[in-house]
Amino acid sequence: KSDSSTKTLVGAIDQGTSSSRFLIFNATNLELITYHQESIQISTPNPGWVEQDPNEILEKTILCMEKAVEKLGELGYDKSDIKVIGVTNQRETTILWDKKTGKVLHNAIVWLDARTQETVDFLLRQFNTHRDCLQEQCGLPLSTYFSALKIRWLIDNNHHVREAIKENRCLFGTVDSWLLYNLLSDDKNTVHVTDVTNASRTMLMNIRDLKWDPKLCEFFGIPEHILPEIKSSATIFGYINKGLLQGIPVGAVLGDQQAALVGQQCLTKGTAKSTYGTGCFILYNTGEDLAYSRNGLLTTVAYKWNDDDAVYALEGSIAIAGECIKWLRDNLGLIPDSKSTETIAASVKDTGGVYFVPAFSGLFAPYWRSDARGLIMGMTQYTTKAHIVRAALEGISYQTREIVDAMYDDSGVRLSKLKVDGGMANNKVFLQMLANIVGINVATPSLFETTALGAALAAGKAQGIDLFTLEVENEIETEMSQYIPRIQGKQREENFSAWKKAVIKSFENLT
Ligand code: ADP
Repeated sequence: KSDSSTKTLVGAIDQGTSSSRFLIFNATNLELITYHQESIQISTPNPGWVEQDPNEILEKTILCMEKAVEKLGELGYDKSDIKVIGVTNQRETTILWDKKTGKVLHNAIVWLDARTQETVDFLLRQFNTHRDCLQEQCGLPLSTYFSALKIRWLIDNNHHVREAIKENRCLFGTVDSWLLYNLLSDDKNTVHVTDVTNASRTMLMNIRDLKWDPKLCEFFGIPEHILPEIKSSATIFGYINKGLLQGIPVGAVLGDQQAALVGQQCLTKGTAKSTYGTGCFILYNTGEDLAYSRNGLLTTVAYKWNDDDAVYALEGSIAIAGECIKWLRDNLGLIPDSKSTETIAASVKDTGGVYFVPAFSGLFAPYWRSDARGLIMGMTQYTTKAHIVRAALEGISYQTREIVDAMYDDSGVRLSKLKVDGGMANNKVFLQMLANIVGINVATPSLFETTALGAALAAGKAQGIDLFTLEVENEIETEMSQYIPRIQGKQREENFSAWKKAVIKSFENLT
């Protein structure tokens, strides 16, 4: 199957909200050789709370690595062909653990979790300030979404955490830090690190100098000694210290959305991608310039290669995308599986006037209203399951339109097309709807695993394997299909203004 020239492989750990994966790419042509995936449980112990077990995240990630390596053997490769590994992960999700025992102090508080609303309100009152008071320093609005709020909630509500901090045994990490701590540390050396992209989602890193900011730490009441060391996104983080892949270097860490930006080759200023997984995240590359939004978009680090300057992005985040499809399946039992939404939605020509605002965890960009709640409105006796499924897919598309509009308003430049990926990009009916509602061409890549690919490309960079030139040459071929808007502008605007009315209703407090 393989001669020595095709035997340079690059691995990628992709730790997402719904699953962990380990993927192995051929460095000569970026072909996906093999992968293994394990789903991760989500628990919702109270309304608005979303937790995961950090041990399950770690164990399933290790299991994926072992299983993928077994498959590799069957394909005629050896694990030593893997030269470097990149890590990409769900962002903001907050884990605290004890550095003496390595044991977690609490379940992971997942990015989607909205329990910290009281913490947000308390800080706003304490400092008599407004939501955007830290935008200049960290690029983000004060919201339940970001790690600092979750850490502060744990300090306020868990005495084990307070004790561990007092006794200097508490460590904080996003999922990347947690995985690397466990995969790279040995008896002599503890590895407590993160990269600039993950750190840029905590609200504790200064977006200009890329260091933990003492003023931000003070604002949130978080001691700096619990925070990991911030590194660039492509550099050697250490060597795997256990299991079948022992001795292989980890050469990159990128938050999942930033990795997808890299995997979609949005490496020049003005390019953008949109990923439809659990949530939806649109990132717009602004180059080495730091751009601030007037429309609720986030300023975030896109990536930083070794000692080069950081590249920044504007980001529009939608909390619930694929998660809404999962909800139709698991909570309502309306559909047998996510995939079936494609045929069910195609069985009706429109939603019959139904609008679905999936504001289960409030609304992120451009509204940042954590008090918003989901609604389905406009139903009649004529309404069927198919209309509701279709309205759910449309709701995700309308939210995308709101972000694309905000990006235009902030940058003055219209996107020429939207490069999409993530689980929902498998749904062709959804992609056509997206083109119709946003009013621009939608393009899918030939390799859907753009998140893992981004981590692999970055890891190659740290190890001197230049995979980017390869990919850029093939750019034309990497776009598999395009969806072109097929409705009239007038109709589009009428539907959009009805959606806007529905969104406003989602803010109305019922109690
Ligand atoms: P994440 O990286 O957030 O874990 P993925 O990119 O793996 O997410 O996408 C999984 C999500 O996509 C799930 O929420 C699922 O409901 C949704 N999904 C997957 N396939 C389809 C499909 N064909 N149509 C609609 N939604 C889908």
